[in-house]
Amino acid sequence: MPATDLRTGTVPPPRRKAAPNAMDPALAEKALAIHARLCPVYGCPIPYFHSLDPVSELVSSLLSHRTRNAESGRAFKALRARFPDWEAVIDADVPEIEAAIAGVTWPELKAPRIRDVIRALRDRCGTLDLAFLADMEVEAARAWLQAIPGIGPKTSAAVLSFSTLRMPALPVDSHHHRVAQRLGLIGPRVDVGPAHAILRGQLPAAWSAQDLYDNHEILMLHGQQVCHHHRPACGRCVLTDLCPSAKRPVREP
Ligand code: SF4
Repeated sequence: MPATDLRTGTVPPPRRKAAPNAMDPALAEKALAIHARLCPVYGCPIPYFHSLDPVSELVSSLLSHRTRNAESGRAFKALRARFPDWEAVIDADVPEIEAAIAGVTWPELKAPRIRDVIRALRDRCGTLDLAFLADMEVEAARAWLQAIPGIGPKTSAAVLSFSTLRMPALPVDSHHHRVAQRLGLIGPRVDVGPAHAILRGQLPAAWSAQDLYDNHEILMLHGQQVCHHHRPACGRCVLTDLCPSAKRPVREP
């Protein structure tokens, strides 16, 4: 229990521990070093993989959660084939949406979520045109999107970064998150949601949409191709000297 302050006779409130990753300049420097090291490996600037309008990108992002790209891509095409436009999804029966996206993980949860999110967008804007987000600051645009139930930090960043809005937001997927944790950019208990603000804060404020997109892509690609979930291939990683999790080669006796 904290000691009583002898001057005032009161018990001071407990001190808050500093957030483990609060904008440490050394981590910002390290994040830049990692970016510089990985960019030539994965070929920055990396072409954008989508040119979807914001609502389409939002649906694509909701479908992609815990699902392989090929499956979520198929489900997205099936939705577009079944419904003439996103307005039509608002009035659709959930089983009809669910049938179209059957190949993704948790279609029974994603079908009502997609319908409800599109409906909420239409109710808030009157239309399904999100072009106005481009006139907002990134954080304000993210907050606007995240006020809608079902849209979290990853989805809001994906909509702003990957869609035709091309705004400077940093999405963090599970590969990006795992690699950042192993490299020590975020602590072992920092979840994907809070990781967004920490990792964005380590990168220069003036970075362009392409710079931030590249940063996300190179860390994601590194997670997919080298820093695997089960057996990271540290022996062929270009970051071993920057990585506290690097597995040292076993010495011959
Ligand atoms: S050294 Fe190993 S653990 Fe660290 S980033 Fe590279 S592959 Fe991942």
